[in-house]
Parts: sequence; structure tokens; C-alpha cells
Amino acid sequence: MEKFIPYGKQLIDEDDINAVIEVLKSDFITQGKKVPEFERKLADYCGAKYAVVFNSGTSALHGTYFALGLTEGDEFITTPMTFAATSNAGLYLGAKPIFVDVESDTGNIDVEKIENHITPNTKLISVVHYAGHPVYMKKIKHIADKYNLKVVEDACHALGGMYKGEKIGNCRFSDATVFSFHPVKHITTGEGGAVLTNDKEVYEKLLMFRNHGITKDKDKFINQPDGDWYYEMQFLGYNYRMTDIQAALGISQLKKLDSFIEKRRNIAATYNEAFKDNPYFETPVEKDYAYHAYHLYPIRLKDEYKEKKQEIFSKFREEGIGVQVHYIPVYWHPYYKNLGYEKGITPVAEDFYQREISLPIYPAMKDEDIEFVINKVWKVFKSV
Ligand SMILES: *Cc1c(COP(=O)(O)O)cnc(C)c1O
Repeated sequence: MEKFIPYGKQLIDEDDINAVIEVLKSDFITQGKKVPEFERKLADYCGAKYAVVFNSGTSALHGTYFALGLTEGDEFITTPMTFAATSNAGLYLGAKPIFVDVESDTGNIDVEKIENHITPNTKLISVVHYAGHPVYMKKIKHIADKYNLKVVEDACHALGGMYKGEKIGNCRFSDATVFSFHPVKHITTGEGGAVLTNDKEVYEKLLMFRNHGITKDKDKFINQPDGDWYYEMQFLGYNYRMTDIQAALGISQLKKLDSFIEKRRNIAATYNEAFKDNPYFETPVEKDYAYHAYHLYPIRLKDEYKEKKQEIFSKFREEGIGVQVHYIPVYWHPYYKNLGYEKGITPVAEDFYQREISLPIYPAMKDEDIEFVINKVWKVFKSV
């Protein structure tokens, strides 16, 4: 098979494999000690008090919205420039996503447009650090305080990134931050996710939510226990647990996170240099408050090339470059359309979508792979 470079993939080494094998040979492959160890290390890395890991980023979002009280009839503000999970998780709870338009350069929610969409039913704001570039969180927090709203950071693109010199995930300007450990994300556990928070009550709710709504803490029992075996289910939760096999992989991957981010940033710097002043597309921006985690390297086609996106996309694929598009505005999907969302509600996001193509960026890329991509970029654009 000819060379094919995907837009993203995991980097697993011998240490990772050995960490998993060790758990497989131990007594506990789930509900053992590796899960709390991973949680402690994640919380410490990000500078938050608590972490709760889940079996996916999506279930982590579901748990977060639940723990923050999002329920039937509530509205929550979010971005259409994301994977569907960010808004789907609110639909699971019977809440209504309100899509607010994005900034044309970062692709992040446009903070200036949020207030117009707040109603008496608004419960929370869920922002996405698109491609790994942090949202201007201080302004989000300011609006949230003014209207008494909760704030969630969907940081599935941004583990290892920083906002104003502090790690994403410390929750200084939010109630909770969510990560995903899918293989294209910054570290992987196969499938997996996590919630970080500084709020003890939210933390305890999350622990119960991922385990059927059950508690074994006798200080929390509603009924009188009738024996030492007693436990209580207090609300309808799920089995959203991560295994110890996965947590062991996560612990091992976390040790390499900083080097992964450095590699991603180096690739972005190489692309930025190679593509500066090119006539075809804009390269990603990094604002002064941002330390970009570069989950993606999203280019934005200039006007003359916007109409040729399909041709450009298919030529990249023919040349062995696994470009992707992030994202189709969430409410364009048939399911959302059937809920009553109409095209045109976030014009900047729609325009962003029509221009956007993600070039490959992942830590396992070799110098020759980066060179290969750059050469193909020139080849494809010169031919359209
Ligand atoms: C990957 C991703 C998710 C969902 O994570 P899974 O682990 O795949 O469930 C949610 N939001 C964003 C922005 C993502 O990129």
C-alpha cells in the first residue's frame, strides 16, 4: 500500500504495552487501584482538586451536565463548531442546546454573542476549546456570574494546553472540564474520558452517576442500613466506568503528554513557517492568552478556493493525505433539523465549515511525513 498519513492517531510504546500487561496479570482488571491512581495524576497534572474518569468523553459530558443540574426544559448555550457529543449529552437529559456563533479565526464560541441568547431557562454554558485553542474563559466566567449560570469546558481538544499561562483543566473559570481519551486525542485509553472539578459535591455526584447512582458511603444513606453489606441507589445512573486496563494505559500515556504537546506544537510551527503568506488559505492563529494544544491544524480556504473544497479534499485523499473536516455545524445534521433547527442561525460557523480542512498533526509523525504533507499541499493547491 502507498503512503497514507491520517489526520491524527495514537502513539503507543513498549512502556504503555507493559503497563497494560501488568494489569492483565493482576487480580483487578476493573474497579481496582489504577483508576483512582489515574484520577489523582490527572487532577495533579491539571491543577484541579478532583478527577473522575469515564468510559468515554461523551459519558463524561453526560455526567457533567447531570451533576451540574441540567434537566428537562432547561436550555444550555454551546457552539455548533464541535463534535455532536457536546450538545447530544444535554439532549440525553431533556435539555435544549442553544447554538451561538463562533469567531472566524479561532473557531471558538464568540463570547460577545452569548448574552443575546440567555433566557430565564438558561442553565449553563458549555464551551469547546476548538482544535486546542483555549476560549477566552475570563469573559465566559463574567457572563456566567452575571446570570448565575454554570460553566463547562469541553476540553476534548485541549488537554495539555494553557489559558493565560495555566493548564486547561484547573477549572479556575469553570465548574467542570471534560477530556476524551479516544486515540486521536492527546493521550489515549482506547475509549475513555474524564471530568475535572474543584467542587466536592459535583465530584461525589459524578462518582455515583458513573456507577448506577449507587453510594456505599454510610454518611450519605437515606435509609437505615440493615447490615454491613448495605449500599444504596439514590438516583438513576449508568455503568460508565473505565477499566483498570485502560487507566494503566492512561497513567503511562500521561507521563508523555508534555512531549506529545511539544511535538504537536513543533509540527504546527513547521507548517506555519512553510505556509506563511501562501495565496490559498489562512493558517491557525494563537492569541496572546493561548498556549495552543494543536489537537488539529485547521486551515481556512480563501474566497477563490472555498468553492473548490470538494476537489481539494479529494485530491488530498488521492495523494495519501488523510485530511478531515472539523466540523459540519451540529444543527445541520438531520436529527437536529428534525428538532427544528434551521440553517443560517450561526452564519460565521457555517462559513468556517465551508472553508475548513484539517491537515495531519500527531506526535508519531516523522520529519519525512511532515515534509511529505507540505509537498502535497503545494501540489494539490497548484493543481486546482
Ligand atoms: C472527541 C470529542 C468528544 C467525545 O469524546 P468521545 O471520547 O469520543 O466520546 C466530545 N467533544 C469533542 C469536542 C470531541 O472532540
